Amino acid sequence: MYDSSRSGLVLQFLMLAALGIVCSQARLSEIYFNDIRAEEAAEQASGSYNYDQQGKDWEGTCQDGLQQSPIALSSSQAIVTSARRIAFYNYDETLQSPLVMTNNGHTANIVLPPTRNGQRPYINGGLLPGTFEAQSAHFHWGSSSSKGSEHTINDNRYDVEIHIVHKNLRYSDKTVAEASEYWDGLAVLGVMLRAVNRVLSPHLGLIGIFNQLPQIAQYGSSTNLTGRYSAQQLLASVNTNHFYSYNGSLTTPDCAESVTWTVFGEAANLPRRHISKFWDLQDSREQSLVNNYRAIQDINDRPVYYIPK
Ligand SMILES: [Zn+2]
Repeated sequence: MYDSSRSGLVLQFLMLAALGIVCSQARLSEIYFNDIRAEEAAEQASGSYNYDQQGKDWEGTCQDGLQQSPIALSSSQAIVTSARRIAFYNYDETLQSPLVMTNNGHTANIVLPPTRNGQRPYINGGLLPGTFEAQSAHFHWGSSSSKGSEHTINDNRYDVEIHIVHKNLRYSDKTVAEASEYWDGLAVLGVMLRAVNRVLSPHLGLIGIFNQLPQIAQYGSSTNLTGRYSAQQLLASVNTNHFYSYNGSLTTPDCAESVTWTVFGEAANLPRRHISKFWDLQDSREQSLVNNYRAIQDINDRPVYYIPK
């Protein structure tokens, strides 16, 4: 027995369902590429700047601001407090693809899409003034002869600092650049990496990303990150219950004072041979993009909180 009309209907249904999936996929990637374009526009609006003087020649709020970042973090000078843990949501969920990494002349930037469950990774708790959704991640690094984290911890500068940029849910109808006009607009998580000579590393997600850095050596180039990634992998398994927190700024022009900083106190070890791939990137002048960190800024009586292990 063969019911052709029914099988025809089933086929039609399947085709429509497939079309629906293709359409919603297309819509999702359209939203994602809009986010990428917004990042590019913000990058262009910040003007041409470089790290020749570690930002000492940047103007405007970068020059006059009183709540600037990065700062020297010190466990003995900070206010020790027991805050709520930072709660991570969807951090272990696989991010949708495509996942694009771009050399924007100042860093390797990854615009984060929602996860496969349709939601973004988000955080609250700690000393955060709200709930914040992950938007992008980027890196600050040194060179073959110098270290390049932005914050220092107890006078230690680390080899790399990962920044995971989040936007307050309160400003969900605004872009990251627009949210940066508000004191509580953004939350950035800082993760320190230490280059070691050990051969094996458990941080396969980060290594997967670093392995694709040669594809974006040239200014303005982008690559699709292949493989499965979650926001969790950007945390490099550090103890997220141990951190510093303070109110500061973006560390690139226009240095907007809109960031609640959370910098984890524990660094993760990554093989030097993977970290060294950052040093081959080039800026818009075709010069080596190295030491892309801003100089330490005055604390100016701001409270800096320290949440010990
Ligand atoms: Zn940064």
